[in-house]
Amino acid sequence: MMKKYVFAFEEGNKEMKASLGGKGANLAEMKKIGLPVPDGFTITTEACNQYYVDGKKISDEIKTQILDYLLKLEEKTGKKLGDYNDPLLVSVRSGAVFSMPGMMDTVLNLGLNDQSVEGLAKLTDNQRFAYDCYRRFIQMFGDVVLEIPKYKFDRVLDGQKEKQGYELDTQLTVEDFTHIIKEYKQIVKSEKGFDFPMDPKEQMMLAIEAVFGSWNNDRARVYRNYNDIPHDLGTAVNIQSMVFGNMGNTSGTGVAFTRNPSTGENLLFGEFLINAQGEDVVAGIRTPQKIDELKDALPEVYEQFINVANKLESHYKDMQDIEFTVERSKLYMLQTRTGKRTAFAAVKVAVDMVADGVITKEEALLRVQPSQLDQLLHPMFSPDALKDTTPIAKGLPASPGAASGRVYFHSEDVARQKENNVECILVRTETSPEDIEGMVAANGILTARGGMTSHAAVVARGMGKCCVAGCSEIFVDEDEKYFRVGEETFKEGDWISLDGNTGAVYKDKLKTVEVALTGDFALLLSWADEIRTLGIRTNADTPNDAGIAVKFGAEGIGLCRTEHMFFSEERILNVRRMILSGTLQERLEALKLLLPYQKEDFIGIFKAMGDKPVTVRLLDPPLHEFVPHKDEEIRELAKDLGQTYEFVKYKIDNLLETNPMLGHRGCRLAMTYPEIYEMQCIAIFEAAIHCKKDLGIDVKPEIMIPLVGHLKEFTELKGLVKKVADQIIGETDITLDYKVGTMIEVPRAALIADEIAKEAEFFSFGTNDLTQMTLGFSRDDSGKFLPEYLKKNVFDKDPFETIDQNGVGKLITMACDLGKQTRPDIKLGICGEHGGEPKSIEFCHKAGLNYVSCSPYRVPIARLAAAHAAIKNKR
Ligand code: PEP
Ligand code: MG
Repeated sequence: MMKKYVFAFEEGNKEMKASLGGKGANLAEMKKIGLPVPDGFTITTEACNQYYVDGKKISDEIKTQILDYLLKLEEKTGKKLGDYNDPLLVSVRSGAVFSMPGMMDTVLNLGLNDQSVEGLAKLTDNQRFAYDCYRRFIQMFGDVVLEIPKYKFDRVLDGQKEKQGYELDTQLTVEDFTHIIKEYKQIVKSEKGFDFPMDPKEQMMLAIEAVFGSWNNDRARVYRNYNDIPHDLGTAVNIQSMVFGNMGNTSGTGVAFTRNPSTGENLLFGEFLINAQGEDVVAGIRTPQKIDELKDALPEVYEQFINVANKLESHYKDMQDIEFTVERSKLYMLQTRTGKRTAFAAVKVAVDMVADGVITKEEALLRVQPSQLDQLLHPMFSPDALKDTTPIAKGLPASPGAASGRVYFHSEDVARQKENNVECILVRTETSPEDIEGMVAANGILTARGGMTSHAAVVARGMGKCCVAGCSEIFVDEDEKYFRVGEETFKEGDWISLDGNTGAVYKDKLKTVEVALTGDFALLLSWADEIRTLGIRTNADTPNDAGIAVKFGAEGIGLCRTEHMFFSEERILNVRRMILSGTLQERLEALKLLLPYQKEDFIGIFKAMGDKPVTVRLLDPPLHEFVPHKDEEIRELAKDLGQTYEFVKYKIDNLLETNPMLGHRGCRLAMTYPEIYEMQCIAIFEAAIHCKKDLGIDVKPEIMIPLVGHLKEFTELKGLVKKVADQIIGETDITLDYKVGTMIEVPRAALIADEIAKEAEFFSFGTNDLTQMTLGFSRDDSGKFLPEYLKKNVFDKDPFETIDQNGVGKLITMACDLGKQTRPDIKLGICGEHGGEPKSIEFCHKAGLNYVSCSPYRVPIARLAAAHAAIKNKR
């Protein structure tokens, strides 16, 4: 049987997204539930992929199906494409599986030519309207399909206005349009070498090809990379009979969300423009009216619209983002989709819908993306900083958060500055899809024009990026690179701050404060805790970090790196004394001086963690990281140590290694200098005994040996730990449970995990090193080539960010299995950076790990990601 590439709206439904794209599937669904949707059909994503397989050509088979459906559409509407009396006009719109607002092409008013324009004039009894549509069509087709620069058309339009002394487009007459159309056609002829196509079927095929082609334009690719959308899905194309929002004051067009997409409040939220076509609202060129005002403008339409919005939300059981058009008081629905929302709104809508019995807790959890939570954990401007300042301007609070940065006016400039780590705010009159790269790179976005549903607002909300839109008090001159507000001028590079929660714009860089985990957010996470099976620990080296993590829900410390403790001013000298000492005796003396500090460190951490387990990793980095390398610093150190410069310099040079990451670090340090680990263990166990005996804290220390690759390394060092522990504990009358385990970060350790598990009570996967050593990619140097690897899709994702499941992941799964063979109750965790990354967390769940450990601010994200993993992969 022939493959079906085209579906009439009435043949589809919302489950057919993969083929029909989001827009097509939802148009079909709206048709199915009896909503007023203009007739049309959808050409599938498979047709788009076939177009690429066939060398960017629409095959005869697909063409035949399209023409067949066109015929059916003509029969249904009783109109004919290109007809002189009653022409059918259509829109040609892209519609991918995942919505990519404004990234791909759209053509409206298709079907107009020298004949049908007359038909449209007669039919609407409005010649001016018909000719305006015609010139818009040539312009849009010329730009989108024929790829003629838009300004060439704009120049003609502006020239005509100037010649006639007009201020506004509305002053243009039929005669003016006739002249403009002639000029437009001339542009096409001279740019392309052929006449503007008069055959509407040819127009349609060319437009479909253009939409297929736009799937791979640069901005669409950037958007997909940013949003993790695969590049091989293709887009569907929707052909729909046109309805006109620009037919006078009983016509209009708008967009609405069934709830507020910034706050999640359960109130219809939207905007409309009377006498306008759809693109005018989304493009943010005219500032639209609030949806409530439709009640006064067109009361019956408003009533009907409210009913439709309610019906859509209860049908989809989720907040909807709706596009509609009113043609001479008749309402038509042009699109519905799941509304993009801020993290704050996502949490509120999910929690509210559970309270209303619309969805289950599990569904609510899946409605919030773990990575989105980042937004809720980001700082806000400190109330103190705000007290001392007043906004220079106020716009719409389009996307929440607080952002400071230097102003730049062009997307490329922002992207370039970002590469040099300059914090930027993108400031524009309005944004368009071309600005995507700059929006990704900017800390925040400020626009002078456009409403809450303008391009800037929608895209920023989707990214969770702070945005103030429609700030009409500012005047932006992108060419001269400045913006003005009142008397004040801000030039490229000047600092400003944006408050996306209030819409306020401030001069300078403002101080920010942390946020708390309360209300709906806390409730949703408590549901996550009920469902997840993975434990969540944190990587914390200070009592302060540990305290933050506990507030965010951490159930223990999975990695306490001890090296950071050595850098404070009063310790570093003794650390250096220890490292550079000439004899064992000198080293022991220096270590003795460090002991009280280390003990205090652990007391602080045990106090912050209470009865939760604390995994302390013994010293790991190569020693040269602790000593100075500049000549004058070495001289100073020599003086402080009472040694000669030559001696200190000689010792330091001796520490240098060609490959320090594979050198004298981790447990190898203790194999040569066991006294270092001995001092650390004394500190840990004395601190633990003090906390348990004197403070009544039921401490649970877990001692972790880094960089083990051989069982004998582990056995020897475990012996050292036990000797110290048993002696200290033995001197008291209390019992103290502790564990000794290892990191698995050298591939050999994963390969012999069954042997190591004979001695190790727990494994913690150090996936930073395990990735480095498995791939042979230096953690420090891979920045030079990894971007190219990602561009070439060698890896989908940076393997230092998301676990390389096929390679590193295989070692982890194998080590888990081997470890359990020897010691069925072995505790398994992860403490590399991957422990806070949602995809890797799902992997850890599937691999059967007991916990993940991540930085304090990722703890809430990990809690939700672990719940997602549990829901999606019930063990
Ligand atoms: C690791 O290697 O994954 C790890 C946690 O240790 P570090 O990053 O300190 O080397
Ligand atoms: Mg490591």
